[in-house]
Amino acid sequence: MFENLQDRLGSILNGLTGRGALSEADVSAALREVRRALLEADVALEVVRSFTDRVREKAVGAEILKSIKPGQMVVKIVHDELIEMLGSEGVGIDLNAPAPVVIMMVGLQGSGKTTTTAKIANRLVTRERKKVLMASLDTRRPAAQEQLRQLGVQVSIDTLPVIAGQSPEDIASRAVQAAKLGGHDVVILDTAGRTHIDEPLMQEMAEIKRRAKPHEILLVADSLTGQDAVNLARSFDERVGITGLVLTRMDGDGRGGAALSMRAVTGKPVKLIGTGERMGELDEFHPRRIADRILGMGDIVSLVEKAAENIDAEKAAAMAAKMAKGKFDLNDLADQLKQMQKMGGMGGIMGLMPGMSGMKDKMAAAGLDDSLFKRQLAIISSMTKAERANPDLLKHSRKKRIAAGSGTDAADINKLLKMHRQMADMMKLMGKNKGGMMKQMMGG
Ligand code: GDP
Ligand code: MG
Repeated sequence: MFENLQDRLGSILNGLTGRGALSEADVSAALREVRRALLEADVALEVVRSFTDRVREKAVGAEILKSIKPGQMVVKIVHDELIEMLGSEGVGIDLNAPAPVVIMMVGLQGSGKTTTTAKIANRLVTRERKKVLMASLDTRRPAAQEQLRQLGVQVSIDTLPVIAGQSPEDIASRAVQAAKLGGHDVVILDTAGRTHIDEPLMQEMAEIKRRAKPHEILLVADSLTGQDAVNLARSFDERVGITGLVLTRMDGDGRGGAALSMRAVTGKPVKLIGTGERMGELDEFHPRRIADRILGMGDIVSLVEKAAENIDAEKAAAMAAKMAKGKFDLNDLADQLKQMQKMGGMGGIMGLMPGMSGMKDKMAAAGLDDSLFKRQLAIISSMTKAERANPDLLKHSRKKRIAAGSGTDAADINKLLKMHRQMADMMKLMGKNKGGMMKQMMGG
């Protein structure tokens, strides 16, 4: 059984106390354990290195949330970073191309290409009402074409009739032609693998690609692939050019480190995961779940998140006091922006304050995302004290001066002022109703 990262960090966490910012030593101690956890989860060594470097850079000097220990803070940063690196959720198969859309499945022998071909076809037929044709290009293994035909019968999906003696490249051309004639929306090409990557395989894949012009090229890989994952993904991506990854056997004991390795070296999204041998056992990719599995932890993340919520509540209370006074100028906005930056953006304060979640959406709709905070802060710091206290002073000439001073333009300044106005309106509204509002915000 895998030892829990939290247990392993136990001694370190207990040994460290102190407030303020994470020190180099805190981070190094925790990262040693993180590194071990990643290697045990079969994340490739070079990816472990680049990942821990990234975390180190983010973690050293980061502010430690009240009520948690430095080591836990590092784990929180590790967890967040891991989710980010694993990529977005729910990137499906892209069918946005003229019919027949060609999907080419590539990968080593036994990785699950044929099974996944049928699973994907079945999904497209049942969920998206597509007409799908499957074709086996595996002329190497005697029973391979028959295996796909049987799966086709099982899920009632067309397979390309087998013609003995044809080369994989010729079958590819014939499959696309047949799909055109048959009025199929999608044609899935199930290619032959090898036990290892070699030149003939890559040449075969490249030629099939040239002929069939696939819209999607999915690399199917066993999630138990260890250190080889990097080499595998890199070779296929460099030589054939993949558009996404499918990880099979996620139902096994493996911790899924291959997902991180392959994503890291190719930058291509994990689109689907296989979770069993049956046709229905194909799932969307959830980066958070995989991150938890890779780190082998559960409780610690929720503990850290709870601490983060407490901090947010404290800040919300301070904010509420300001509102009660009915005061909210650009200085306050600057404070807010800094806090939001520190707390990981919009999701922080806004999401936690009842009644302000709508505000958050409005701000997002206005294109005010986290990347703008820096620019907005620059704008505010280019203003005079009087301007900050009274935004109404900001007429054209002053805006020009501020734009020049902050390296922005008038549109940026107007956006900022609009956001301030919206927030100030909200504050006024809340101030009128302060008793109830304050109580609500304090969770009472
Ligand atoms: P191919 O050589 O790449 O075409 O691999 P196959 O599709 O023939 O799969 C090889 C074996 O792996 C078969 O026995 C499949 O049933 C099994 N398999 C494929 N995907 C999964 C999966 O997600 N979970 C499990 N447990 N087995 C799988
Ligand atoms: Mg096969």
